[in-house]
Amino acid sequence: EKRHKVTVVGSGNWGSAIAKIIAENTRDHPDVFEPLVQMWVFEEEFTLPPTSKHYNGSSAGPQKLTGLINHYHENVKYLPGIRLPDNLHANSSLHDAVKDSTILIFNLPHQFIARTCDDLIGRIVPYARAISCIKGVAVSADNVSLFSDVISEKLGIYCGALSGANIANEIGMEKFSETTIAYDPPSEDEESTSSSKPAGHSKLTPIPHGYPTVDAKILKTLFHRQYFHVRIVSDVAATSLAGALKNVVALAAGWVIGLGWGDNAKAAIMRVGLLEMVKFGHMFFKGHGIRTETFTEESAGVADLITSCSGGRNFRCAQMSIQRNVPIKEVERTELNGQSLQGIGTSYEINSFLKAHGKEAEFPLFTAVYEILEGKAEAKDLPDLIERDPAPK
Ligand code: NAD
Ligand code: 13P
Repeated sequence: EKRHKVTVVGSGNWGSAIAKIIAENTRDHPDVFEPLVQMWVFEEEFTLPPTSKHYNGSSAGPQKLTGLINHYHENVKYLPGIRLPDNLHANSSLHDAVKDSTILIFNLPHQFIARTCDDLIGRIVPYARAISCIKGVAVSADNVSLFSDVISEKLGIYCGALSGANIANEIGMEKFSETTIAYDPPSEDEESTSSSKPAGHSKLTPIPHGYPTVDAKILKTLFHRQYFHVRIVSDVAATSLAGALKNVVALAAGWVIGLGWGDNAKAAIMRVGLLEMVKFGHMFFKGHGIRTETFTEESAGVADLITSCSGGRNFRCAQMSIQRNVPIKEVERTELNGQSLQGIGTSYEINSFLKAHGKEAEFPLFTAVYEILEGKAEAKDLPDLIERDPAPK
């Protein structure tokens, strides 16, 4: 039997936490996986702060992040204080990191995915399978697509999605959480549960004989931990969309709390936000077999909305921007130490798509978030702004 080699493409806050989970599982299941996991690092220099437990006078000064991760088994910049498994190797060469890998896990801020995939064309094994952990959508001209489809189409491989109520720091500390994995490849070489597939998934290169089939069981073996429970579904579209759209809602939730309003105000934002998320999915991803239940019953849906509107970075930075009266981009720069808020970009992207389709008025919350970011409206007007259109049914 051949074993799957796994690479994590990305090493930020969530990239490092998911790489930790994966390396723990490949170590515990050497019958199915090569234990050594590669994690691609977008190389940069980092200076250990005096607050780091690794700091000593002689370690002062900038060093390569990849070297620091491999030396200390800790992503000292993006997931500080969390011990990473010894069988996780940080690699600054994207091409080397993915060489011969049969399972690729994409975990990068969404704005970097297209470029990274372009760089991977011709560099991966054609029978690789992928999972996207990205929360965002790809908008070009008047088209919106899922990153699982972008990865799939650019690289000619099948890509599913992982999304859930998953604040990375909590998972790094092994505090219990759930996640949703959506995986539904064409049936020729894997188990399939749905008949509706977007174009581009039909010409898969079969996994060579000898490798275990990449199916729900193997994905559970790769991702499930005692502190990280996995539910597998077939609805890739809703799983991906919910993760992207809740970031827009979390900004509005942060603003109303920043204004000093209470839980009732936040709940109202979340109610309208959830309705708009579901409506967006049904309106624009009809052919993808999208299910309302994925939004209302799975971790990727309502549970992620709740956690993101409580302790997420988009929520917290939006709250601070109102309290300090500074632009949210400024809060991102001063508070996040290089981490990336996904909600701002997604709000603009969703708005440009809705505008192109003449549908802004049908999504009053999404539209209000964009207008507030643009300085065309104020957060204090959200109660009226979100009632510009009757709540979607
Ligand atoms: P992050 O916010 O920590 O972003 C920093 C990462 O971006 C670093 O690894 C950095 O090297 C990388 N980067 C910077 N410039 C780059 C470039 N030009 N090319 C490639 N990479 C570059 O990232 P994250 O938290 O790992 O988020 C990745 C995805 O996971 C996002 O879509 C996010 O929404 C999602 N997510 C995050 C969390 C969380 O709690 N952090 C939880 C669930 C999902
Ligand atoms: P933030 O990017 O807003 O921190 O959200 C994290 C997340 O997706 C939790 O599930």
